[in-house]
Amino acid sequence: MSEKQELNYDVIILGSGPAGFSAGIYAARGALKTAILDINMFGGQPSNYLEIENYPGFSLIGGFELMEKFEEHADKFGVEKFPMVEIQRISLNGEIKEIETIDSLFKAKSVIIATGAQSKKLGIKGEEEFKGRGVSYCAVCDGAFYKDKTVAVIGGGNSALEEAVYLTKFAKKVYVIHRRDEFRADKIVQERAKSNEKIEFVLNAVPIEIQGTNTVEKIILNNTQTNQQSVLSVDGVFPYIGLTPNTEMFNGQLRQNSQGFIETDVNMQTSVSGVYAIGDVRNTPLRQVVTAAADGAVAACSAVKFVETKTPVQA
Ligand code: NAP
Repeated sequence: MSEKQELNYDVIILGSGPAGFSAGIYAARGALKTAILDINMFGGQPSNYLEIENYPGFSLIGGFELMEKFEEHADKFGVEKFPMVEIQRISLNGEIKEIETIDSLFKAKSVIIATGAQSKKLGIKGEEEFKGRGVSYCAVCDGAFYKDKTVAVIGGGNSALEEAVYLTKFAKKVYVIHRRDEFRADKIVQERAKSNEKIEFVLNAVPIEIQGTNTVEKIILNNTQTNQQSVLSVDGVFPYIGLTPNTEMFNGQLRQNSQGFIETDVNMQTSVSGVYAIGDVRNTPLRQVVTAAADGAVAACSAVKFVETKTPVQA
């Protein structure tokens, strides 16, 4: 078997969404030898969004187009790119961090983790089919497309109830469908939702199918107590049943909160020296393109300082 090629960098960024590319731009511009690796194609979650209208400077831009701009910008500063890599091993604790793929051994003084998070899926018929055509996991991104329409939010946590209230700015009616009759959300959040006249609660119900033609038209529910099915006519479905950070590959090497999000300080430093976490994968109060990009800038500047302390000064 042929030996794996060894590739050395000052910083390796894992993940190529807005956080990863922003970190790449700042790190390479800060004179670090920088590589971005992704297990998928480049662009992260936003490249799947039809339109983005809250990234400053662009009142309306396609998600794919915006991420292409991030990538071109990173290219300009010479960031080296490795899409679709299959990672076999990550070792973060040593002075030199190692990432082993099928054919290469990447070594770096510093690692920036930007692997993102996934919305937990309902796992029901129609969910995948209507994603981007009525099924959305981001009310802030897509809520404005539902002006004077009827939408359903699934879940009974803080996210579901807060996003339901947010959606009432646009939608004429918002159903909150929850599998129990008690909510996990904070009392104050519950009170806000319950006092909103546009919100109607459908309790003890779980969605079992999303139906439509080109876009979503209805959601089929099953009552958890009577086992009776019912149909709601809706134009949109927003599942908010929790998020899962993409951290399996780090195998408990970093401190994570109870939901698995990576803990960082204000410099994006994780519990391991020289390892930073940014964007959706970290414990953060807001998961947006703009906050991910900002995290990337902070982490890269921290990495520049860190690498400088590890690099002998030339005589
Ligand atoms: P969460 O608190 O885990 O709530 C998920 C909700 O979805 C729960 O009500 C759960 O029902 C329901 N659910 C889970 N799986 C389901 C399924 N397969 N089908 C139907 N319903 C399902 O998630 P989150 O609301 O995304 O919040 C995540 C964390 O962030 C929480 O700690 C939350 O407090 C925090 N957060 C805080 C704020 C804030 O402080 N402003 C805002 C947003 C989020 P059960 O209740 O029956 O389990």
